[in-house]
Amino acid sequence: MSATAPMAQTPASEDARPGEGAQPAFGHHVGAGVDVTHGPILYLDNVTVSFDGFKALDQLSLAVDDGELRCIIGPNGAGKTTMMDCITGRTRPNRGTVFFGSTIDLVRMTESQIANIGIGRKFQRPTVFETLTVFENMELALKTAKGAFASVRATLNSEQLDRIEQTLIRVNLRDEVWRVAGILSHGQKQWLEIGMLLVQEPRLILLDEPVAGMTDAETERTAELCLSLEGTHSLVVVEHDMEFVSSIARKVTVLHEGSVLAEGSMGRVRSDPKVIEVYLGR
Ligand code: ADP
Ligand code: MG
Repeated sequence: MSATAPMAQTPASEDARPGEGAQPAFGHHVGAGVDVTHGPILYLDNVTVSFDGFKALDQLSLAVDDGELRCIIGPNGAGKTTMMDCITGRTRPNRGTVFFGSTIDLVRMTESQIANIGIGRKFQRPTVFETLTVFENMELALKTAKGAFASVRATLNSEQLDRIEQTLIRVNLRDEVWRVAGILSHGQKQWLEIGMLLVQEPRLILLDEPVAGMTDAETERTAELCLSLEGTHSLVVVEHDMEFVSSIARKVTVLHEGSVLAEGSMGRVRSDPKVIEVYLGR
């Protein structure tokens, strides 16, 4: 794939976790120990996932740079969600490697270990706590960021309150802070879930179809949010809404039948005859 591909060295999953009981300084990512100086923040090499002989991922190789905003598109069944499952430890590849930074082998780690080293994921359907307020949802997300905070019963300090407020401003929910999540619009619930990820300060964020079901105005705000995260976070966005993808696109990867069909700028993949044939031309 690239000359900067990480070499599989000694597994460093144990070392990579923040020290027991250690409280990372605010403004630092839980996964800040990840070494990205020698290559991409996320690196999949030759990943194959078979379900009863059917290859949902077929020798998939992909590298995402630190701070990059990457869009992944592709027809239904292309393997986009399965790819995220491999990164987050929900599915083990039958073959291939998945690295976070140059030393952390994700294939050897559990789902919760992976979440704790700074990889946050938003699933397709919002999963906020409907009977709790926006604030309480954020508070829970902050307190359950394992390894960072000792007790769920402890009251939040002013820095934590500030962090929640800043995050709510960022996801456009500052005015809804005392509302019960169940009465938010579908789009606002999606934002709340993104806020619950952001407050945990992940290094890498995976968003699976974030604008599904959103109004045009909500979709535009979500595009602004994604662009604002670029640079400080690494972002992988899977989305069907081509207008949305065009509005945030930097490098776009097109998946098809479990591997990369095309990769490059939106203009480049859009004019690729292979892409037109399997996806955009329909
Ligand atoms: P996408 O997100 O791109 O629409 P998926 O990753 O969800 O695609 O699915 C890729 C392919 O793998 C599909 O054909 C799907 O039916 C199949 N698949 C996904 N998960 C499973 C599973 N747990 N068991 C069997 N087949 C699966
Ligand atoms: Mg999917």
